Amino acid sequence: MRQTRVWARGLGLCGAVVEGVEAEAGTNILVVSVRVRSGDRDRCGICRRRCPGFDLGRGRRRWRTLDLGSSLTVLEADNPRVTCPDHGVVVTWVPWARHGSRFTRTFEEQAAWLTAHSAESTVATLLRVTWRSIVSIVDRVVTAAEAARDPFAHLEKIGIDEISWKRGQRYITVIVDHDSGRLVWAAKGRDEATLHQFFDALGEERCRKLRRVSRDGGSWIVNVVTQRCPNAIQCTDPYHVVSWATDALDEVRRAVWNQARRAGDLKLAHELKGARWALWHNPENLTEHQEATLESLARLNRPLFRAYLLKESLRLVFHMGRRRAIHELNRWLQWARRSRLQPFVKLARTITKYRASIEAALRYRLSNALVESTNQKIRLIMRRSFGFHSAEAIIVMAKLCLGGLCPPLPDRS
Ligand SMILES: [Zn+2]
Repeated sequence: MRQTRVWARGLGLCGAVVEGVEAEAGTNILVVSVRVRSGDRDRCGICRRRCPGFDLGRGRRRWRTLDLGSSLTVLEADNPRVTCPDHGVVVTWVPWARHGSRFTRTFEEQAAWLTAHSAESTVATLLRVTWRSIVSIVDRVVTAAEAARDPFAHLEKIGIDEISWKRGQRYITVIVDHDSGRLVWAAKGRDEATLHQFFDALGEERCRKLRRVSRDGGSWIVNVVTQRCPNAIQCTDPYHVVSWATDALDEVRRAVWNQARRAGDLKLAHELKGARWALWHNPENLTEHQEATLESLARLNRPLFRAYLLKESLRLVFHMGRRRAIHELNRWLQWARRSRLQPFVKLARTITKYRASIEAALRYRLSNALVESTNQKIRLIMRRSFGFHSAEAIIVMAKLCLGGLCPPLPDRS
């Protein structure tokens, strides 16, 4: 095999001709001179159509590629410009790099793979690039992977939720596929307009193919899903319903506490303050001390203890089998309506409003647990990388790691 071919293979350069390799004087850089094969010359960098030449562009250009041993290695080649009827004056296509990138494909794929598997600082140090470069590399890799396959293919069951970032000031809407377990789509914002963007991208025909949608009770999701997915059964996430009950319980606790304080009953006020955690936890997770607190609460304040029992029994309903759960939910609603506890009377009204979708969640055993765990992983990705100053960077990283879009390492597909 000729030496130049050995270099081409070693560098993962198919479709290019190696002309020579030199160590740049005074640096630790290996410069590999390459050229495009004659059949691939003068093609538009965007559409690859053969076009008339325009000029020599900026002359010789360099692309960072994978290190050879410990040497930083670059490819160097002419990169003239052509006039494309569709894209105007544009630099020519090269087989080793994506359009507009200063890095080769193999370098970008390795960088993306490393980013999906290790911390920001490790990747940046190992590859000798800035975090900003990594984010733009991942963006190109993810865009190419999304273009190569239909991310919405065979979508039937989805889960919708939001995740907050920047200390809860801003939100990203997150959509997962219950069948593949993958993150399907994410975008900045938490409102009806944001969600409409997803269904626009999905298209009317595929919207009709959606059979189930799990979600919390947020009206912005309910409204849009009702409007856009005519054949989907909506499932209200049981954990969210239980969290509504926890909120109602806390409302009762605060009211009783305020009342006790105003009446000058400092002992009760103090006990109620201490009871907060006992009321929140599930009984099986209570410490001995918290159990004692609950017991004294049963004696001290009947309404608050009743509120606690209401919250707990609603939680238990969602652990029962489907038939029994639906039956018990009925009984629970009657109990809550007659409880004379305003927050629970109100909660009974809310649950009645979402009744069909709550029963659907029980029937199809569909919760938002997958979205919650996806959000948890996104939070880990955010913590792993300090460089996240934008929702766009978070989204592209999340798609790489959780959307099934991470490329294999070069030469190991
Ligand atoms: Zn073109």
